[in-house]
Amino acid sequence: MILLKTELKNLLKQVKIPLTPQRRDLIIKAFEFAEKAHQGQKRKSGEDYLSHCIATATILASIGMGSKTIAAGLLHDVPEDTPITLGEIKKEFGEDIHNLVEGITKLGKIKLKETKEEYLIENLRKMFLAMAADIRVVIIKLADRLHNMRTLEFNPPEKRPRIARETMEIYVPLADRLGIGEIKAELEDLSFKFIDPKNYKMVKKLRDDYYKEGEKFNNQAIRELEKEIRSRKIKIAKIYGRAKNLRSLFLKLEKREMDIGRIYDLIAIRIIVPTVSDCYEVLGITHKVYRPMVGRIKDYISLPKPNGYQSIHTTIFGPEGRIMEVQIRTQKMHDEAEFGIASHWIYSENKKRDWKNYFRSKETYSENEVTWIKQLREWQNEIGRDNKAFLEGLKIDFFKNRIFAITPKGDVIDLPEEATPVDFAYEIHSEVGDSITGAKADGKMVTLDYKIKNGQMIEVMTSKDKKIPNRKWLEFVKTSNARAHIRKQLKRSDEII
Ligand code: MN
Repeated sequence: MILLKTELKNLLKQVKIPLTPQRRDLIIKAFEFAEKAHQGQKRKSGEDYLSHCIATATILASIGMGSKTIAAGLLHDVPEDTPITLGEIKKEFGEDIHNLVEGITKLGKIKLKETKEEYLIENLRKMFLAMAADIRVVIIKLADRLHNMRTLEFNPPEKRPRIARETMEIYVPLADRLGIGEIKAELEDLSFKFIDPKNYKMVKKLRDDYYKEGEKFNNQAIRELEKEIRSRKIKIAKIYGRAKNLRSLFLKLEKREMDIGRIYDLIAIRIIVPTVSDCYEVLGITHKVYRPMVGRIKDYISLPKPNGYQSIHTTIFGPEGRIMEVQIRTQKMHDEAEFGIASHWIYSENKKRDWKNYFRSKETYSENEVTWIKQLREWQNEIGRDNKAFLEGLKIDFFKNRIFAITPKGDVIDLPEEATPVDFAYEIHSEVGDSITGAKADGKMVTLDYKIKNGQMIEVMTSKDKKIPNRKWLEFVKTSNARAHIRKQLKRSDEII
C-alpha cells in the first residue's frame, strides 16, 4: 500500500463518479506528473504552483466530472508553464487527455480586449464554445478561472479589474448557459467584488445584517417544516437555508429602489426530497404550516425555466410573519441546478454501470466520455423536446459556416469557412492585406491560399515595400471584404501604370 499525500487523498474524496481502480490510478498518475513538472514553481500567492492544479481538479471532481477531465485539470498548465510538451502528455496519457490539455492551452491565449461592444463580447463567448470542440475543455477552463478568481488579490491591483471584467463578461454567462449554478454564482460574486467594490461592500453589509436579524426565524421555520414533513413519512435528503448570491441580490435591489424589504427570496429554505410527488406533497405541507403569499407559487417542475431549471418555489409568511421563500426539488433537479451539464456525467455514469458487479465482471469500463455535441443532444432529449429553448444560446448551427482564428496577440478574427491567410490579413486591416507576403498557422509556414482551420493562431508576414495585391488572390479569397480591397488596389495600380 503506497501512502498518498493528503492533498491527493482529499482530491480523491471529492470524486463523485464511481472511482474504479483505473480511474483512481489515472488521477494519481496525473497528480504525480504535474507535481514533478511544476516542481519549484510558485504562485503569486507564494504557494506551490501545484496547489492551483489541485484546486482546479478538485472543483472538477466536486461537480461530478470524470477522471479524464480531472486528470486534464491537474495537467492543464503543464505545456504552457513547464518544459514538458504536449507531445509528452500524449505519450504518457493518450489522445483524449492530450486533446483536452491542448484545448485549454489554446483557450488560454484569448483575452478580452478593452471593448464594451456587446456583439464583440458575444462573439468571443461563441468562439470560446466553438473552439473548445469538446465541452469538457470549457468546464476545465471555468474551474481554472474560478481558482484564479479566488486568488485574484495576489495579482497587482492594476491587473485585477480587467481580469474580473473578463470573468463577468465571458465566464459567468458560459457557466450560466451550461447550467453550472454553483460556479456561476461564485464567479459572479468574485468579479463583482473587484469591478464594483463599493456596491459589493454595501450589498454584503445589507445582506449580512439582514441575516443576523433573520437567522433565528429561518432556523425556526426549518425546524417546524422538518418536523411536519417527517411526520408524513417523507424522507428529507436535505433541508437548509441558502444565501442569495450578492451580485443577483444587487441587480434585484436596483429594480426595487434598493429596498431590501421588497426582496422575498433573500432567505430561502431549500428542501430536497426523493421523488417528484414528494415535492408536491411537501408544497402542501408547507402551506399548511405557513400561509402562502398569493401569486407567488411557481411550479418550475411542470414548466421548467428556459435553462432547464426545475423546482417548486413558494413565498410564505414564516415565524412571526417573516416573509421567506421555500424551494422544493428532487436530488436530480438539485444537481442539475448546481452542476448543470456536468451533472449529466454523474447520472450517465451511475446509470450505465452496475458498480456492485464491477469486481465480478471482467469487463473493463472505459470512461466513454463522448463529444460535447452528442452530450448536449442527449441532455436535451432528457429534459424534453419542449425545452429546446434552453440550448438556444449554444446554437451549434451558428458555428457551421464560421471559423475563428486568433492573432498572436489573442484577438479573435471571425471568418467564413475555408477562409485563407489573405482573408485574415484583410480582416485585420486593408494595409496588412495589401502587403502580405507569407503566413504561419500555429507556428508552421503555410501558403497564402491555405484553408484556415477553426481555432488556429495565424501570424501574417508583411513587406514594407509591397503595397499591391496579387491578382491571383481573387481566385481563392472567401470574404467580400478581401475581394473588394484587392479589386480596388488593382484598379488603382492599373491607373498609375
Ligand atoms: Mn491555470
